[in-house]
Amino acid sequence: MKCDLSTKNFEKSRHYLAGGVSSSLRSSMKPVPLFATSGKGSRLRDVDGNEYVDYLLAYGPLILGHCHPQLTEDLKSQMKKGYTYGLQHAGEIELAKLLVDIIPSAERVTFSGSGTEAVMLALRIAKSFTKKTKIVRFQGHYHGWSDSIFTSFPTADMNNNYSSGGKLTVPGTSGQSEKSLEDIIVLPWNNTEVLEETLYARRNEIAAVITEPVMCNSGCILPKEGYLERMRELTEELGIILIFDEVITGFRLGLGGAQGRFNIKPDLTTMGKAIAGGIPLSAVGGRKDIMALIEEGKVNHLGTLNGNPIAVAAAISTINILSAQHGAVFDRMERTALDLVEGLRNLLEKHQIKGVVNQIGPVFHLMFTNCDVVTSYDEFMTSDSKAYQTFAEKMLSEGVLIRPNGLWYISTEHSNQDVKNTLEAADRAIASLVK
Ligand code: PLP
Repeated sequence: MKCDLSTKNFEKSRHYLAGGVSSSLRSSMKPVPLFATSGKGSRLRDVDGNEYVDYLLAYGPLILGHCHPQLTEDLKSQMKKGYTYGLQHAGEIELAKLLVDIIPSAERVTFSGSGTEAVMLALRIAKSFTKKTKIVRFQGHYHGWSDSIFTSFPTADMNNNYSSGGKLTVPGTSGQSEKSLEDIIVLPWNNTEVLEETLYARRNEIAAVITEPVMCNSGCILPKEGYLERMRELTEELGIILIFDEVITGFRLGLGGAQGRFNIKPDLTTMGKAIAGGIPLSAVGGRKDIMALIEEGKVNHLGTLNGNPIAVAAAISTINILSAQHGAVFDRMERTALDLVEGLRNLLEKHQIKGVVNQIGPVFHLMFTNCDVVTSYDEFMTSDSKAYQTFAEKMLSEGVLIRPNGLWYISTEHSNQDVKNTLEAADRAIASLVK
């Protein structure tokens, strides 16, 4: 695999762009952060002319793959009418109605630009509604990079810049004060007893529990049976707001996200990534009486580009495409994921490499670990991130783009041929780990 031009671009970039990349995570790509030129369907091309089957999918948003023809048309058509107004427009009503119709917990919604912002707003709303200040979050979950919540995120992904050293609420970055995390309580996930104990003991302080409904950011770990149900019961009983962070699971585990799939209604939901197919948009949805704080002017929600017509058109288009044929695309994406997962498990066995693949819908996580199952953050942390990085690098040289450590995302555009090519590449990549 040639990466001379990506290497040159990266060197040049560093003279002007701090760190040479626009998001810290991208610097962890080996052998070098790649420079893309174009994408089509499930394929992405880089400046050196390499073409990859893309399972990174821009860290999630590209649920329709690259340059989906309908989405591209809809974007062009909006572009001709204006790219931002600073006034309200009909698209916002249409998108808000779509979300209220398909997201079980959303009686009212509001828009912003990124998942980080959506989480910031949801936390603010929850604190205002309950007049309490503490937020319970879980080890290994990620809710964006704002100072108020950025902590307890797996080391491996952050290029080893951050190590919790066993202390759970240390800042995730230099420049973030310990004080900013004063209101955060970090608990292990999937542990009902600890949750019960903490919520009962600190009910008068805790405004909200925020959770990824599936621990997608650390091992794609599913909630244990009854765990989210108990979380819902407890929070309701104790006057604590339950926030589902569906930035990954939304529009991916089905149109209604994880809450639709598990049939559990949180009070507030944050959405982002796939919602607009790759154009920046996020949303917070929730109970009418809670979201009323915005209407009443008690909670301020600002943003120059909120409800931007391009992003809104992208979201309407994406959701309509995903809704076609009663959501049949979700079944197809899940089938593709299952084929890959089965193939990867067979390869682990064939090469006698210990590993676990956790999957739900069109996302999965492959880990090299001696554990038989990965159902907790501690088990996830036993996985060999160095070996995985070597595997990812080898896959790249074979024309398959995966995250250096993390989820594999499936789009509507991945084909059986992609699966076949990927498993052939994985066969060689796993074999190379044995030597
Ligand atoms: N919440 C979850 C669950 C995420 O995975 C992410 C990003 O990966 C975020 C929030 C933050 O979203 P963004 O990167 O759009 O700010």
